Amino acid sequence: MVELGIPVVGGSVLLADPRGYCAGVDRAVITVEKALDLYGAPVYVRKQIVHNKHVVHNLAARGAVFVEELDEVPEGAIVVFSAHGVSPAVHEQAAERRLKTIDATCPLVTKVHHEARRFAKDGYHILLIGHDGHEEVEGTAGEAPESITLVERPEDVDLLDFPEDAKLSWLSQTTLSVDETMETVRRLRERFPQLEDPPSDDICYATQNRQVAVKEIAAKSDLVIVVGSSNSSNSVRLVEVALDAGAKAAYRIDDVSEFDPAWLDGVERVGVTSGASVPDDLVQDVLAYLATHGHPDADAVRTADESLTFALPPELRKDLKRAGA
Ligand code: SF4
Repeated sequence: MVELGIPVVGGSVLLADPRGYCAGVDRAVITVEKALDLYGAPVYVRKQIVHNKHVVHNLAARGAVFVEELDEVPEGAIVVFSAHGVSPAVHEQAAERRLKTIDATCPLVTKVHHEARRFAKDGYHILLIGHDGHEEVEGTAGEAPESITLVERPEDVDLLDFPEDAKLSWLSQTTLSVDETMETVRRLRERFPQLEDPPSDDICYATQNRQVAVKEIAAKSDLVIVVGSSNSSNSVRLVEVALDAGAKAAYRIDDVSEFDPAWLDGVERVGVTSGASVPDDLVQDVLAYLATHGHPDADAVRTADESLTFALPPELRKDLKRAGA
């Protein structure tokens, strides 16, 4: 049995656990790798498969071609949809262009799509808490565009204008700050007491676990380093959560080359974590850098066990089975 919330002793580096890859990212990356093995290059991928520039770079080197929209994909070609999900309009466009699609949408995002469809069918107007322009939000909103209003932050609640008796529900992006989202919901409920909750949390287990872990290390660290790309919502949230939890400073870096040695001036303890789309070798590079810059001892601080895995997309599994792979 693993002890959780281990008391911290000694080390000058606190390494958050869980950190890095979640089940949805792992599945999406393996999907592209297996598609490349099975069908050969090029395999097209709509948008970044996950929001990490190193992952995208490595897959591109193996023959994945990343496109923004489907009109960049030749008719009849193979295209993978990213972990963030797509709207029904994108599925329709793919069918029109006779593309062979492999849907690597994270099952936890798909769950939110189902909730959006169900609420809309039942006559609710959905207040979707999320970031404007994020691919996941575009995909979810596309499930019921006439029935969804985006709410980006708690202050936005004051701007909403619905009749007293409006049938309202809320959903959220999976990678938000848990605390800020709960504050938005609190304000929504204050204004609209009839607000219907989703059947379960939309902020996913991985986002929640990484925020709990970073809170644990941030309160004991002078500096927190979050490894993750700038377009990774959950990585950017980890910096905010670390600062809110008491870290004196927190920075996000894509990799160790962005580490500014001046950040270590006067620092006794460094917390390290990474977003859900970050391969752990990038974190190990940071630990190696810290070891040569006065911080050789790292203690892992585990706040949750993660064992969730997702099966590969069924359309890919079928072809793998047929090929005996
Ligand atoms: Fe799925 Fe959560 Fe990972 Fe996003 S962060 S891919 S929702 S498990």
